Amino acid sequence: MTRRIFIAGNWKMNLTLSASLELAEGLKQKTANVTAADVAVCPPSVYLQPVAAALRNSNIKVGAQNVYFEKNGAFTGEISAEMLKDIGVTYVILGHSERRNILGESSETVNRKTHAALAAGLIPIVCVGELLKEREAGVTEEVVRRQFDGSFSGISAEDMTKCVIAYEPVWAIGTGKVATPEQAEEVHAAIRKMIAAKYGKDAAEAVRIQYGGSVNDKNAEEILAKPNVDGALVGGASLKVDSFLGIINGAK
Ligand code: PEP
Repeated sequence: MTRRIFIAGNWKMNLTLSASLELAEGLKQKTANVTAADVAVCPPSVYLQPVAAALRNSNIKVGAQNVYFEKNGAFTGEISAEMLKDIGVTYVILGHSERRNILGESSETVNRKTHAALAAGLIPIVCVGELLKEREAGVTEEVVRRQFDGSFSGISAEDMTKCVIAYEPVWAIGTGKVATPEQAEEVHAAIRKMIAAKYGKDAAEAVRIQYGGSVNDKNAEEILAKPNVDGALVGGASLKVDSFLGIINGAK
């Protein structure tokens, strides 16, 4: 099975409305002929709808950066998966390390959100990754396995194949310290084995595993060339048309 490269930009809590629309317009025009990769941008929630409208009839889909797991009700400040679906959102990033480490989100919460996203027809991009001290202690695979098991608990093999996993070593996020292609490949291959053990070989071959952590237009091609790296989740370098485009063009 050949997995299509998937490049997603996580805009985090950046940009203004006008800057978001300018970026979306620029990307829309410059990706009009892109065929080698699926592309998405994940703006802050307040800009999802205008960005989705700006990207209508383009090659770029829109993703949210978070979702709540309940359907509706008294949950002040939260947004449901149905609401995201309703405004034209396709993907949702779940369990990003900033949410796990700054906002205290557990794999159990990520799991509830994964179930809710799938039930609403959204595609979850579930993030896993180790802290620097965990890598240095040699427990990277153990940490990732715990996050994988917790985040996908109770998910069927069919639903698993709809999900995207983003391996994001926390020490590489926003630090300029990118994992080597070999380090990324090693963990990606381990994650694929985890999928195979739980869901079978076909599911493991189908699931796309993105790498995230200081990916830019200079290092993308080499990382994306690794057999188990099926794309990138990009933070900083997704905020400028040319650098994001350079990463997309790294998909061969
Ligand atoms: C991210 O936040 O998902 C990320 C990978 O950020 P950056 O590319 O800036 O390291």
